[in-house]
Amino acid sequence: MTHLRGYVALVTGSSRGIGRAVAKELASSGADIVVNYFEHHDEAYSLREEIQALGRDVEVVQADISDPQLVKVLVESAINKFGQIDILINNAGITRDRTLKKMSFEEWEQVLQVNLSGVFNSTKMVIPYMIERQKGSIVNIASVIGQTGAFGQTNYSAAKAGVIGFTKSCALELAHYGITVNAVCPGFVETDMLKAVPDDIRENIRQRIPLRRFASPADVARCVRFLVTEGQYFTGQCLNLNGGLFM
Ligand code: NAP
Repeated sequence: MTHLRGYVALVTGSSRGIGRAVAKELASSGADIVVNYFEHHDEAYSLREEIQALGRDVEVVQADISDPQLVKVLVESAINKFGQIDILINNAGITRDRTLKKMSFEEWEQVLQVNLSGVFNSTKMVIPYMIERQKGSIVNIASVIGQTGAFGQTNYSAAKAGVIGFTKSCALELAHYGITVNAVCPGFVETDMLKAVPDDIRENIRQRIPLRRFASPADVARCVRFLVTEGQYFTGQCLNLNGGLFM
């Protein structure tokens, strides 16, 4: 597929999981990719090789998405390399699950900083380049947990609900520059994040999913690809990709 030939996509947190699958999907569709990672250097560089094998150009940048100064460096590195950013996928995210009674202020802060402020940081730094070119697509990876809440996830559900609100406000502010902003709300996806959930709870969740299976990272990646290619009349939307878990 060559839909995205000539486009540059920045995917935050793309060393592993959903971000990695999205980066590969967009590269397969013709985009050049900026891979961002935080801790997993080797995974980020193995992704670089996979993208190069697809014939696409790639830049790898280490940056903690929760730090505005480092995000500035990330975006400037992307611009220095490619001169443009057409697609921003705000994917980087973490969990620090604990009931509210036991949750530390640090666990609250960390999750809000990465999952919500991280989305603000990268969007804020990227949009001047999109506005200049009067086009762009932004996709924020939120979560069904931002829509339903979940036991032990007050921090995560608050952050993801915040991402959904941020998406809608951004869509309103950026539409007249030709920039679309959408969220994808996955249910439960087979990545390291889900592996951290104890086996019995994971099985219990699976039984509650009408389709009786977790999503694969590739399921999410295809949904993101749709939004940034054929789905260009979508903006301010939240695409629910949850196997029927929440309607
Ligand atoms: P994952 O497998 O744990 O991967 C997380 C990715 O985020 C890694 O590439 C990691 O980079 C990066 N990351 C973490 N903290 C970062 C930071 N401070 N700065 C930059 N990058 C950072 O998680 P995943 O399941 O793919 O989740 C991806 C997104 O989907 C998250 O926003 C998550 O909330 C959301 N989501 C996941 C599920 C699910 O069931 N898995 C469901 C709904 C939504 P390093 O490894 O290099 O540190």
